[in-house]
Amino acid sequence: EEGCSKLRPDGCTHPCAGRECGQCEEGCSKLRPDGCTHPCALPCHHGNCPPCRLMVRQRCHCKISSLYIECLSVVGICNWLYGYVQLGCGHRCKLLCHPDECDQSCSQRVKLKCPCKRIKKEFPCSRVRSEMDLVVCDETCRQLQKKHAEVTHTHTLVHILHEHKLFAELEAFEKRQKGRRKKNRKVTEVETEEGVWHRYKLRLLMPICGILLAVAAFLMYVTDVLRVVD
Ligand SMILES: [Zn+2]
Ligand SMILES: [Zn+2]
Ligand SMILES: [Zn+2]
Ligand SMILES: [Zn+2]
Ligand SMILES: [Zn+2]
Ligand SMILES: [Zn+2]
Ligand SMILES: [Zn+2]
Repeated sequence: EEGCSKLRPDGCTHPCAGRECGQCEEGCSKLRPDGCTHPCALPCHHGNCPPCRLMVRQRCHCKISSLYIECLSVVGICNWLYGYVQLGCGHRCKLLCHPDECDQSCSQRVKLKCPCKRIKKEFPCSRVRSEMDLVVCDETCRQLQKKHAEVTHTHTLVHILHEHKLFAELEAFEKRQKGRRKKNRKVTEVETEEGVWHRYKLRLLMPICGILLAVAAFLMYVTDVLRVVD
């Protein structure tokens, strides 16, 4: 048994089984091709291993579809648009599922605004990423900003006044001033009214007293006459 001189299969490390010398019933121990994790379908054999025919699930290039294909066969493409999920910019590739690298010059339209956000314009994504200051403020922007700044300035002033309670104090002061003026006016009005009345009272009182005296005298005279008649 020892020293069997019959040819062993390539790479066979198994001892001769003794039945059919030169053949081997152990499994194939040849190195599997890269990517295949399946054992060879043949027992220990001469020559190259046959290609692996096992069906496996594989992702297509765009990773969207799952394809059922023979192990190690070329990965197919699916029919999805926007194939590759993301480019460097975050947008999706606009091509159909493809095996080569995505074109990074993204054509997605991107809206840009000027610094003050008044002017809006659209540009392809690749331009937006490669060029600076595509949308700048114009004269109208600057005028509006100036106006806005003025408004904010006034607002800030009012705000500061409020913050330091100056506004409240100012209002209180104004109220006090107004109140004082009103009071002063009332006093003088009353005074003048009283003055006028005082003056007229004297002038009116004299004739009224005269009339009253005359009436009294007349009544006294009439009663006297009536008494005489009785
Ligand atoms: Zn063998
Ligand atoms: Zn042998
Ligand atoms: Zn395989
Ligand atoms: Zn094999
Ligand atoms: Zn695909
Ligand atoms: Zn993009
Ligand atoms: Zn602007």
